[in-house]
Amino acid sequence: MVTGILLFPGEVSLFPAGADYIKPYWGRGKAPKIRPVSYQVDTERCPLLSPDNLCTVYERRPLTCRAYPINLLEMIQDGGYKSQTPCNIVHGFMGSLPADIVEAHQTISDRMMNSGFTWIWDLETSQWVHNSEITKVAQGDGKGK
Ligand code: SF4
Repeated sequence: MVTGILLFPGEVSLFPAGADYIKPYWGRGKAPKIRPVSYQVDTERCPLLSPDNLCTVYERRPLTCRAYPINLLEMIQDGGYKSQTPCNIVHGFMGSLPADIVEAHQTISDRMMNSGFTWIWDLETSQWVHNSEITKVAQGDGKGK
């Protein structure tokens, strides 16, 4: 599965209206009626990055960018509260987060992965993938990247 920068609905307006590189990310509903609840950027290089490699919306940049290198999707795929980063500083930070933040992440994970109607848009195949397939990929049983 290939995914891009995760955008929550209020963050889509950071990009030009109607940009064809804005794709769905998380979806909810029963196929074929799946409603996007978040979005992603399908480009090699973020269109908001200036030629001199500065973020042109730094003060308003998406939560995904603010959270980097903590990856919400990877945390959800792990089925819990865990970061994939090899950075020890981040691991130390993660271990000292307040309990309510940990609980909030766990709640998001539970709701996303245990809902029968949660989907992710795969940029590679341009298709919705059901969360049961995403779990298989996360556990190494799938064919995803
Ligand atoms: S920090 Fe700014 S330039 Fe970098 S990916 Fe996020 S929005 Fe794009």
